[in-house]
Amino acid sequence: MTTTVYNADWVLPISSSPIKDGVVVVRNGLIISVSEHEQLKDNYDSVVKLDGALLPGFVNAHTHLELSGLKGKVTSTREGLSEWLHRLNDQLETYVTEKHEKEIREEVENLRQVGVVAIGDITNTGITYDILRNKRIGGVVFREYIDGLGEEEMGLPDFVSDKIGSSLYVSLSPHALYSTSKVLLEKILKLNKDNNRKTSIHWLESLEELDLYRNHDGPLSNLLHRLWPCITSRYEHSMMNHKHFQEEYFSDQLILVHALESDNQLLKRYKESGVNIVICPRSNYFISGELPPLRDFVSQDISFAIGTDSLASVEDLDVRKEIVLIRENFPEISAEFLLKSLTYNGAKALGIDDQFGSIEVGKSAKLVHLNFDKVHNNVERYIIDNFSNLSLEVIG
Ligand SMILES: [Zn+2]
Repeated sequence: MTTTVYNADWVLPISSSPIKDGVVVVRNGLIISVSEHEQLKDNYDSVVKLDGALLPGFVNAHTHLELSGLKGKVTSTREGLSEWLHRLNDQLETYVTEKHEKEIREEVENLRQVGVVAIGDITNTGITYDILRNKRIGGVVFREYIDGLGEEEMGLPDFVSDKIGSSLYVSLSPHALYSTSKVLLEKILKLNKDNNRKTSIHWLESLEELDLYRNHDGPLSNLLHRLWPCITSRYEHSMMNHKHFQEEYFSDQLILVHALESDNQLLKRYKESGVNIVICPRSNYFISGELPPLRDFVSQDISFAIGTDSLASVEDLDVRKEIVLIRENFPEISAEFLLKSLTYNGAKALGIDDQFGSIEVGKSAKLVHLNFDKVHNNVERYIIDNFSNLSLEVIG
């Protein structure tokens, strides 16, 4: 058995306070002990000394790797979701995923370089299964379903396979309330629940989406009518009522991606239901020029995980840049809260917190080493304030 002992100026377990002069002992890819240096009981022949800090590997809780061939192809006008979807659809008409395998592979290679060891990835083709497995990335690949509110007949698998890698799982994802019929949505939610899988869905990515749910009107409604001409007067029968969705299905088994337009009543419902929230602030800003109401989230003690969304709405899949954007716009949010959002909250949202998200005995030893030479008393704050400039490597 291979045992490696890491001794870092700081170990940030995330599940507990930072440990100065901390030690993490790793055996066969798993953490077997976490302690202060002076508490290290066993004598180990060699200890790997690390300047700076050790953190759990980061989690990118929402992305669409298979759209990697669209990097730079959809420009930002900040005019809102329907306008962006319109331009995305123009690109997708001629987009053949298989022809972009090289770009997808490159983005998977890049994940480790930005500290990401686990992801929540949306796929329409399944092309990412093998690529992620071969690169030993953990997480959940969500097979996405869009049926144009019943315009298309879509069959579902009668089971969700157990695992596609040692720590990589499959689940099913309805794209959004506005694109997936009530009938299909209910089937997906049930199938995932029966297989103990979480369901990820795009939710309130713009004000236009709220307008559609409340009034069956607005720019998003117009776009959907153009995409699916038979949709007229179908909303009421085919689309799940958004209030019913909130009341019946908000739970810790559901992942809401974006939650950009969330009023007080919704925030209250998020809190009491324990639903998982994943935010993608750079994508929101790219599409609508807006950011999620994070001040309200934090003041009401609602946690969130971090995703990047796809290269059709961000320039790269560097999760650290999401944190930098949040820091610039919401400086009152603590560094501790932000580091937790990038690690533990993502793992918990995806249902992989038994393996990822914190430095604890029994969890994966894929850790992020941030290299800096001074020992700072408020280490979390130092890391967040210098996030993009610190040299980073994933060890383990
Ligand atoms: Zn998305």
